[in-house]
Amino acid sequence: MEVATLRIGHRLVRDDRVTTHSALVARAFGCSKIYMSDVDESIIRTVEKVATNWGQSDFLIEICDDWKKIVRMWKKNGAKVIHLTMYGMNVDNMIESLRTEAKILVVIGAKKVPRELFEIADMNIAIGNQPHSEIAALAVFLDKVFSGNELKKEFGMANYKIIPDLRGKSIEYKSDLNK
Ligand code: SAM
Repeated sequence: MEVATLRIGHRLVRDDRVTTHSALVARAFGCSKIYMSDVDESIIRTVEKVATNWGQSDFLIEICDDWKKIVRMWKKNGAKVIHLTMYGMNVDNMIESLRTEAKILVVIGAKKVPRELFEIADMNIAIGNQPHSEIAALAVFLDKVFSGNELKKEFGMANYKIIPDLRGKSIEYKSDLNK
């Protein structure tokens, strides 16, 4: 299954950390790509550095100024467009049917999203009907759609690899990984 995230809206400077974290969650939770608007180049560099160090350097960040164009393109390519919003249907009632899709575009907002998105999306899905955050909503949705398997994924071409440790911090470095 190919899954990408589209984040609509960005409040300059104020949103930098949230934007960076949305991209990091998309990467760590199994997306191949994130589309974002109005973001600072430094955010892209931060995420690229994480991907270089921790793997999957082919994770893509694309800057887009026309969200509708991205939605139309994914729909045309057969994707289901899922808008995460507290006004949507309960995720657990819809997730089963989504697990068999070949392509999904997950849309999240940085602030109030255009009304039109509610109609263009194939499904408006809620991660609970209380307001919280796009980072949390994205993580929970991706974990449910991939049934938790995304957390077992190995990220190739990494400089560092964590050796899971109950009580300390263990890291393997590239020179050791290539032995
Ligand atoms: N009241 C706003 C709204 O229209 O949803 C909340 C905006 S919130 C700061 C930013 C984004 O977080 C939303 O656009 C949505 O994608 C996501 N979000 C927040 N709460 C959510 C929930 N309960 N379920 C799904 N997505 C949620």
